[in-house]
Amino acid sequence: MDETLTLGMDVGSTTSKCLILRGGKDILAAALIPAGTGTSGPRRALEEALEKAALQREEIAAVTATGYGRGNFPGADWVVSELSCHALGARALDGEARTVIDIGGQDAKALHLGPDGQLLGFLMNDKCAAGTGRFLEVMARVLEKEVSDLAEMDERADGVVPISSTCTVFAESEVISRLAGGADLCQLVKGIHRSVAVRTASLARRLGITEPVAMTGGVARNAGVVRALEAELGTAIRVSPLSQLAGALGAALHGWRKLRA
Ligand code: ADP
Repeated sequence: MDETLTLGMDVGSTTSKCLILRGGKDILAAALIPAGTGTSGPRRALEEALEKAALQREEIAAVTATGYGRGNFPGADWVVSELSCHALGARALDGEARTVIDIGGQDAKALHLGPDGQLLGFLMNDKCAAGTGRFLEVMARVLEKEVSDLAEMDERADGVVPISSTCTVFAESEVISRLAGGADLCQLVKGIHRSVAVRTASLARRLGITEPVAMTGGVARNAGVVRALEAELGTAIRVSPLSQLAGALGAALHGWRKLRA
């Protein structure tokens, strides 16, 4: 049995994710710290994952760093782009996915994978906060809620308050004025989710949709956004409970493949 231990570290803009893999297959431990690049998040995620797996860092055969802050993670054996790691990780989570939509804290990407999981093309929005996790964080703050509350509020909505501004700053003002006008909070949340879905669907359509479609990244944990995106694209979207760890899983897999090459 292959006992090789590899570690993937995804240093995100908002969250640090660390995952330890045995034999390129078994997930021994994972840690997710809601603090991203430039903070203690990466170090804490590493320590937590090692502790959960009862391992020392010296026992890890290869460390691969990915994500927005990958260049700042000390001691990585490999530093690999998010696109490669997300493609690898998403495919490990869902062996059939041909289109992967990843929405993180600061960007949104659409990836087109071949039948064997090879990356055939991608499109990315990393210029504008609208349609990213940041947009949802800003809106949650205005509503005095946590991002983790939004999916359930969306489910309770019996209508939708549409958000017409595409810019995060203007959309924030729009939500504030709707709140002042007595709009229903849950309906507002549904409108906010729809706004993210419209932007993401347009990105994915420009790339071209090949089914099945999977979603990764932290925003995939928000079932309200997933449902809104399904409605926009007119197709089912597969989501793994480990969606936010896709990049870290891909990084750990990358290390394992490199060691075998
Ligand atoms: P990054 O790699 O840029 O740090 P992630 O893929 O980790 O981004 O996603 C971070 C985003 O995920 C946050 O901006 C937030 O919108 C969303 N998110 C994180 N946790 C949850 C949760 N429990 N429920 C809903 N959304 C979440």
